[in-house]
Amino acid sequence: MKRILVTGGAGFLGSHLCERFLGEGHEVLCMDNLVTGDLANIEALMPNPLFHFIHQDVTEFIHVAGELDVIMHFASPASPIDYLELPIQTLKVGSLGTHKVLGLAKAKGARILIASTSECYGDPLVHPQSEDYWGNVNPVGPRGVYDEAKRFAEAMTMAYHRYHQVETRIVRIFNTYGPRMRLNDGRALPAFMSQALRGEDVTVFGDGSQTRSFCYVDDLVEGLMRLLWSNENLPVNIGNPTEITIKEFAERVIELTGSKSKVVYRDLPVDDPKVRQPDITKARELLGWEPKVDLASGLERTLSSFQERVGAL
Ligand code: UDP
Repeated sequence: MKRILVTGGAGFLGSHLCERFLGEGHEVLCMDNLVTGDLANIEALMPNPLFHFIHQDVTEFIHVAGELDVIMHFASPASPIDYLELPIQTLKVGSLGTHKVLGLAKAKGARILIASTSECYGDPLVHPQSEDYWGNVNPVGPRGVYDEAKRFAEAMTMAYHRYHQVETRIVRIFNTYGPRMRLNDGRALPAFMSQALRGEDVTVFGDGSQTRSFCYVDDLVEGLMRLLWSNENLPVNIGNPTEITIKEFAERVIELTGSKSKVVYRDLPVDDPKVRQPDITKARELLGWEPKVDLASGLERTLSSFQERVGAL
């Protein structure tokens, strides 16, 4: 049994991670300041005596009593509208928060996995994106607060590894979806699914020809586990390489929900990447990992979580 700290543990990915570690019999300390996290995500875990919730902002000094074996750093606003509304918090959690958790990992002799992002590649000029591509990021655009904080987080993590020999792992997470995404987080899947279930217009930004590649959360979590227990210190892409245009994605969601909603077109946000697809050769070769859940079954598995919360059940 290991003792594991998950920062951002009440968020979408964090709560799935907490669940997975508890399922494997580990003790889990879930830390969250609940800015974008939600206690409802961990309600079912609360009665477990091996689960502990700590209400804390990771940009402040972190005190954890006792030993720690693993830290999973998943605290951060993570959707474009969140980081537009919370630009300073986004920069702080990626930079100061990452520094704090790395310091904690060093003090405890813990292994640490940092959640980085495909946003490190910005609006990519190389397609698909492999880990050796350095990216095309606008540092002063509205998304720069997230992209640059995560790039700083990667640099800081490598410095702690190289200078302090901390056992670090870096995952670059591509678009992920599944139950517990916040209805109003503004990302494509929650927006489209809640709009379709309410019979509202489905808002596609731009002409919808931009592409993304969507990974189901259980596949992602499996990839994270394999990376955590591997020996790789350099970044690894984890995501589903099946690429789809946003227009087609909206149509798939409308079809699945059986909604009468129509697609309407809205302005494309500034610096919205035109394409995105992970090259997962490294994850395949190093971790023996690849996604198993296709879009149809992933959307199906996600639907009931949205139906319950939209009140359509
Ligand atoms: N998008 C959209 N309508 C929405 C929300 C998002 O067309 O209501 C588009 C967005 O412009 C982007 C894609 O869907 O091209 C994925 O957006 P998301 O916010 O999910 O994440 P991103 O991949 O941009 O970080």
